Amino acid sequence: MAQSPMLVQESERRTASRRAEMPKAVAKMPRTRLSICVRKRRFASQSDAIATALAADIELRPYVCDRCGQYHLTSRLKGKRRLAP
Ligand SMILES: [Zn+2]
Repeated sequence: MAQSPMLVQESERRTASRRAEMPKAVAKMPRTRLSICVRKRRFASQSDAIATALAADIELRPYVCDRCGQYHLTSRLKGKRRLAP
């Protein structure tokens, strides 16, 4: 009885679900308070908001406002990465 050895080749190609780790320059923040929207500076384009954020002395992060649909800058950052000197 010749039992042909079955070559079980498990060619499981696991498609590495690489998460697109793109730097999220713009974080979507739901529910922007209207009062904040009004008093905050608006940027029509993302690049303008980023440029201003980079030029600022403090860390600012542009985000899309759901009130006006434009960009604001916020200094609120989750996780303090800055160490006070
Ligand atoms: Zn707004």
